[in-house]
Amino acid sequence: MAELIFFAGTMDCGKSTLALQMDHNHRARGRVGIIFTRLDRSGEAVLSSRLGLSTSAVEVAEELDFWETVVASLTAGARVDYLICDEAQFYTREQVDQLARIVDELDIEVFAFGITSDFRTELFPGSQRLIELADRTQVLQVSALCWCGRRATHNARVVDGVMVVEGEQVVVGDTAEPARESHVEYEVLCRRHHMRRMNSRAAQTAAQSADVLPFDLDACPVPPPG
Ligand SMILES: [Zn+2]
Repeated sequence: MAELIFFAGTMDCGKSTLALQMDHNHRARGRVGIIFTRLDRSGEAVLSSRLGLSTSAVEVAEELDFWETVVASLTAGARVDYLICDEAQFYTREQVDQLARIVDELDIEVFAFGITSDFRTELFPGSQRLIELADRTQVLQVSALCWCGRRATHNARVVDGVMVVEGEQVVVGDTAEPARESHVEYEVLCRRHHMRRMNSRAAQTAAQSADVLPFDLDACPVPPPG
């Protein structure tokens, strides 16, 4: 019996590497799959991992219909045993519904990989729908660490070095589009530092001013005793 499985994690948790590994393992057993992704860091229609591995993939445009795409493949005589769906947080709710239907009616396995929540700590619509519908949600063990050394569980958006908690839900950072006016990047933090909006740059600045602080305090007049 096919299943819809959602592998959920933060950024930097190695989920794209796992997606590639999953595809490799199934292909090694003679199975045939289709790989989908959306807004991958290295551009359209590529699934890539931070470790430098990559493979071609079908870009999930807003209007892509998974059901129609897979049915068209099958009708054309192709074999489809499984789907690998990376960056699933960016899929629409309707697209996730289509994935569930593919599992139930075509008996094709779907492995979805995605980030659970955005830089404001709110669930992405695609991830929310996956949590609602998946046969299983597997939380990927976080290997990423906050600058303080705690496990990094939250994603932060950093614009020109400063952490922000407002803005559009989807802004892809560090892509091949350097002409953007402000530099957007992402950093994973522990919850404590996400709540305090203290990304690594802010922590550095705070540490530097802490170095200066004792001198400032020494300069304060000491009240006379009694
Ligand atoms: Zn921290």
